[in-house]
Amino acid sequence: MEAEPTREAVRSQDRVFPVVGEELFAALRDARPSRIVLQVPAGLVRNAGELAAQLREHVGAPVVVASRPCFGACDLPSRDEAPRAEVAVALGHAPIPNVRSVRPTYFVEMRTGDGDPEALARRLDDAGVPHRLGLVASVQHLGLLPPLAGALDRRGYATHVGRGDHRLAYAGQALGCNYTGAEEVAASVDAFLFVGTGRFHPLGLALAVDRPVWSIDPLRGELEPPIDRATLVARRQLLIASVRGARRWGIVVSTFAGQNRSPTALALQARARAHGADAEILLAERVDPADLLGRDVDAYVCTACPRIALDDSANYPRPVLTVPEFLMALGELPLEPYRFDTYH
Ligand code: SF4
Repeated sequence: MEAEPTREAVRSQDRVFPVVGEELFAALRDARPSRIVLQVPAGLVRNAGELAAQLREHVGAPVVVASRPCFGACDLPSRDEAPRAEVAVALGHAPIPNVRSVRPTYFVEMRTGDGDPEALARRLDDAGVPHRLGLVASVQHLGLLPPLAGALDRRGYATHVGRGDHRLAYAGQALGCNYTGAEEVAASVDAFLFVGTGRFHPLGLALAVDRPVWSIDPLRGELEPPIDRATLVARRQLLIASVRGARRWGIVVSTFAGQNRSPTALALQARARAHGADAEILLAERVDPADLLGRDVDAYVCTACPRIALDDSANYPRPVLTVPEFLMALGELPLEPYRFDTYH
């Protein structure tokens, strides 16, 4: 293994905590905020009231709950959403180092120490997972990478963990819009292993790196076989081909601090116009399919979270492409190699 995940100081006004507990409560008591806004990811919405009550009890400050769940550290509560909150507590995500928060933010990464590295390594070896292996994990499971790499290396594996660029807080971290850590080590490996749950990160990883992507749920020890990248890419290429002649484009921009790519949108508008197509920029905070209904548009390109085009496009009234896919549709980029929409 080449590098271990290391926690880095992000911005002086922000703090990072592994779990909700006394360390967080003590830091908040010291900060003496007049009001806290609590934001939770969709998976924790059910517990939001209980978590807010815990904060009130242990910190002694008023707490409001942001009703909009966060998908990442890219869409923290804005000033308008919580005008009187001095401090934000954001659960389930690591900070994004190059995204500025509007108030001091206490990130609680919800780390888990679960998973038996020796048993997981045995499981991977028995299943024939390639020995030149890149490791990637969701932030909750990053702590498992060093012991898992050690256990794999003792079995003759050569494991690699990439550091990635300035959008990633940690080496080995999977972020749905940035797999630069994996890209860094792709030439040295025959496959990647994603450690975590859900399909979103392995699918994104499979689009970003031309290598088989296995995934393992470290708590259950369940191993998923490699994603069929060729089919995934072929589906996207078919979609791109279907909108090649589109004359009216909607260019979607989100105003969330960590998703706002207005300069990219303006550049795309210029490219569309150079090809004789109409292209209107559509501004939204959270991109909502209902807001795109009834528009005189053939297709959309989404400059916000790539999840919208790659995961949710079936919910939209017209095809939704990512930024590189749009350039492929215009003929400015070749269809091969397929390019993932990386945010830097
Ligand atoms: S832009 Fe999307 S993938 Fe990237 S951090 Fe935000 S929610 Fe996650």
